Amino acid sequence: MAAQHADSVAAQVAAGLVKLSLALRHEAWKEARGGGLTPTQGQVLSWLLLQAPGQCPTPGELAKALALSPATVSEALRTLEAKGLVRRRQSGDDRRSFQLALTGAGSRVAQASAGWADFLAVAVDSLPPADQVALLRVLVRLIRTLQLQGKISVARMCVSCTYFRPFAHPDPERPHHCNYVDAAFGDGRLRLECPDYEPAPDGRQETAWEAWAGRWERAAET
Ligand code: SF4
Repeated sequence: MAAQHADSVAAQVAAGLVKLSLALRHEAWKEARGGGLTPTQGQVLSWLLLQAPGQCPTPGELAKALALSPATVSEALRTLEAKGLVRRRQSGDDRRSFQLALTGAGSRVAQASAGWADFLAVAVDSLPPADQVALLRVLVRLIRTLQLQGKISVARMCVSCTYFRPFAHPDPERPHHCNYVDAAFGDGRLRLECPDYEPAPDGRQETAWEAWAGRWERAAET
């Protein structure tokens, strides 16, 4: 039974994803070491850089988004503060509640290291455009499955965003609509981490998901 499973398509795909994750980890280490940071510290800076202007998350929100323990986050923040890359400021009247923001230096370091995964983008760019879009669709579906299983943190993806209107237009190239920027777009422009994301209420998320993913599932069955 185990041998059968090891030969399955799912097992081969999983092995391929593990190989990719090892390459990513290796590059992340190289980049972080070059900047005198650990990969976790680099991750914190990159995530803070993705926040919408004026949005100052709490350490708890950061820990949840990156699936890190509060102790790991607090250690990373202590070091980043000491390096002058992140600042904490008290939020409201509660002395134990803080909001986080990048300093000017932190923003520069985060921007300089933002391209560390470009080697992967270059590899994906070598695929035919239709394959790139198909891969993005698969990633959206995998990420959502892992989110529902509690295996990865919440991603700020179009498919669960309150501004997402799937198949709102008859144009097959740009069938969806983003109410935030009031523009039509196609699957190739689906965002996996959008600073303007707002979660849709649960019922609406399900309806939008059914409309978006259901369409591709039905197409695959025919
Ligand atoms: S606001 Fe961002 S996440 Fe939401 S639908 Fe528009 S592009 Fe997608």
